[in-house]
Amino acid sequence: MKYYVADSYKHMTRVGEPIKKNGKLYTVVEGTCDRCGGTGIFACRVENGHPVPHPAYGGVCLQCGGEGKIQKTVRLYTETQHAAAQRAKETARVRREKQAEERRKERQATAFTRWLERNGFDEDGYTYLIFGNTYPIKDELKAAGCKFSQELKWHGPAAVDVPEDCYVERIHWSDVYSWNADAFDMWRTEEGNKFLDDIFSKNTLGQYVGEVGERLRNIPVIFEKVITFEGKYGTAQVYRFNYEGAQLSWFTEVHKDLEEGAEYTLSGTVKEHKVYGNVKTTYLNRCIIK
Ligand SMILES: [Zn+2]
Repeated sequence: MKYYVADSYKHMTRVGEPIKKNGKLYTVVEGTCDRCGGTGIFACRVENGHPVPHPAYGGVCLQCGGEGKIQKTVRLYTETQHAAAQRAKETARVRREKQAEERRKERQATAFTRWLERNGFDEDGYTYLIFGNTYPIKDELKAAGCKFSQELKWHGPAAVDVPEDCYVERIHWSDVYSWNADAFDMWRTEEGNKFLDDIFSKNTLGQYVGEVGERLRNIPVIFEKVITFEGKYGTAQVYRFNYEGAQLSWFTEVHKDLEEGAEYTLSGTVKEHKVYGNVKTTYLNRCIIK
């Protein structure tokens, strides 16, 4: 009959005949000492590949007594017992792996839910983007649990009542992001970038005029209004004009007496194109108004 030792002693050599004790079989196994690696030396360090004996205990390995080999008396199993032990071991391994996988999935699910919550999405993964002139209602948005981010601007997990110059659109996280479960993180996708570009330009009013750096010469504009504020170097004002439906703004410290609703001829250099509120605004400098 063939007998087996436990896997951990498989690599060792059996010595002598099996021993019977209390109805169980044992054998003596012999193998290289795992503490000294077979050298028999209790080393304090290794020099040029050779162990240097430690001054304590005469430098003799405590486990093998300097023999370099160890012997152990271990159980012997029948083929049936051995196979059952192997199966039990395999079952335990599978169970451990399954539990680890479940814990990993749980952690990922938690990370995902937290991401949604932290980033202003509801539990189904939706958020309401708020476009338009949001500045005047920013405190109300904040109070309603909305968040502001560079990517999504103002948005929140629940629909909010907004004034007429604002609009709300519901989007799903998967419109913009891809969830990388292994990294526990969201990535903005190429499609997501395009989706955001489209949705923001769709919800922005007006048109830009000219190119940055271009000199607009003698264009007919209607003066809409002036906003005066205290700047770094005294009083400054922003004059706002309408040119064929496009919004133009001029920041200046120069004071002009202009009549609201009246037509003027304007020359100016395009400094910047920027969305103000929800309106594409062309910012000018070096303006001459006639
Ligand atoms: Zn040893």
